[in-house]
Amino acid sequence: MSRRVELTTSRRGVLGMALAGAAAAGLGTAPAQAALVRSSARIVIIGAGAAGTAFANRLVQRLDGAQITLVDARAEHLYQPGLSLVAAGLKPPGYVVSRTTDWLPRGVTLVAEQAAAIDPEAKTVTTSGGQRLEYDFLIVAPGLVLDHDAIEGFSLDLVGKDGLGALYAGPEYAARTWQAASQFTETGGVGIFSRPETEMKCAGAPLKHTFLIDDIASRNGAAGKYEAHYVCPQSVLFSVPIVSEKVRMLFGERGIATHYGHTLKGIEPGRKLARFETSAPGADGEAVKSTVEMPYDYLHVIPPQRAPQVIRESGLSWADKWTDQGWLQCDMQTLRHLRYPEIFALGDIAGIPKGKTAASVKWQVPVVEDHLVAAIQGREGTAIYGGYTSCPMITRVGRAMLVEFDYDNNLVPSFPGLIAPLEELWISWLMKEVALKATYNAMLRGKA
Ligand SMILES: Cc1cc2nc3c(=O)[nH]c(=O)nc-3n(C[C@H](O)[C@H](O)[C@H](O)COP(=O)(O)OP(=O)(O)OC[C@H]3O[C@@H](n4cnc5c(N)ncnc54)[C@H](O)[C@@H]3O)c2cc1C
Repeated sequence: MSRRVELTTSRRGVLGMALAGAAAAGLGTAPAQAALVRSSARIVIIGAGAAGTAFANRLVQRLDGAQITLVDARAEHLYQPGLSLVAAGLKPPGYVVSRTTDWLPRGVTLVAEQAAAIDPEAKTVTTSGGQRLEYDFLIVAPGLVLDHDAIEGFSLDLVGKDGLGALYAGPEYAARTWQAASQFTETGGVGIFSRPETEMKCAGAPLKHTFLIDDIASRNGAAGKYEAHYVCPQSVLFSVPIVSEKVRMLFGERGIATHYGHTLKGIEPGRKLARFETSAPGADGEAVKSTVEMPYDYLHVIPPQRAPQVIRESGLSWADKWTDQGWLQCDMQTLRHLRYPEIFALGDIAGIPKGKTAASVKWQVPVVEDHLVAAIQGREGTAIYGGYTSCPMITRVGRAMLVEFDYDNNLVPSFPGLIAPLEELWISWLMKEVALKATYNAMLRGKA
């Protein structure tokens, strides 16, 4: 039986990330370096986001002589956790934007094109510019795509006008979301906050936006003349039961109405109507579907989320689950592909039950590093990923709950006794508002 190192319990945590971030900023001691391993392996990484960049930085510190190629056409790196703050008028859009090349270490070749095709049998990646990259190991980290077209009548051009917000779409759209939301917080009316039926990155973000806009509205011109409705396809507010219950209580205290079993299908922007498909158990227990329309003065849209097309067409996705979404088939503890052992998933693309957060990436990267380096050395890796996922759940300006959990829905607080996970605390707000970015940056540099 193989002995595996449980990274998730011994070195876990967002605050741990913060301390590592501080270390990277010269305020502490950087993590000990593992010995360099000689290798001429060809390693291709698809995606230079949180996961691909952090992994490339770790690899150059571990391998000597390997050919490391990072494929990504996007010139801008986006610190996505900052989008929630931009969409509440708390940060400018520039807060989330840097350059992809700012984070890349020496020793990594950037191919500034998209991966257009993967042939796992031939072990090649073909780029949008027609280059054919051969690999010995492939790290798949292209994040996910937002399927705004799935919402009939909706277009990103509408964001910021006539009460429409869509903060996931990027910094410009998050700023335009605040334009629409801030008008709602002054004039009031009906605010509708949606989330998709699919898996999504940072499942706390729809709740954060609801909490923040409700908080601001309750102190601005809209006070006493608005309604807030949280409308979701699921039958719970959050996948971790104890967190879901806490949010349900907070929504109740704040007068935020909840509508379960509602999936946003379309909008009529001219009439300010949102159309939802509802699903409720009928007399025979079978789900009965119907359509309901809800008028809005402010509507926040988060569209369905899926694997990028190149992954869905690669034959690397799960065949028997998430078939409409195409997440990469992999072992949930090692992130290694189940049919192609030289392929690993990292970040949002991974077809695992939890983990679509940057904080998860921090704990996934060393696990994949361990297995990849072990494979190069002809031995078996030992590290496992336990599903660590974290969400600094903002509940009002200046207050948040630091929610950290694993595959088994256990709460895994980084500092038990110091930061209570289900309390609205100023220190947890600071984690989101201040520490998280430094920590994220340290992770990108492979230091956390
Ligand atoms: C509104 C919002 C709030 C969030 N809040 C938090 C939070 O508070 N805490 C937290 O931990 N996480 C949060 N997250 C989630 C976090 O940002 C993501 O989980 C994280 O960025 C995932 O990293 P990734 O590398 O998998 O994907 P990304 O960081 O999205 O990077 C993917 C990269 O792949 C590239 N790519 C795509 N397709 C291709 C292709 N075909 N070829 C080559 N490259 C490709 C893209 O250009 C991109 O650079 C939030 C996200 C959002 C949207």
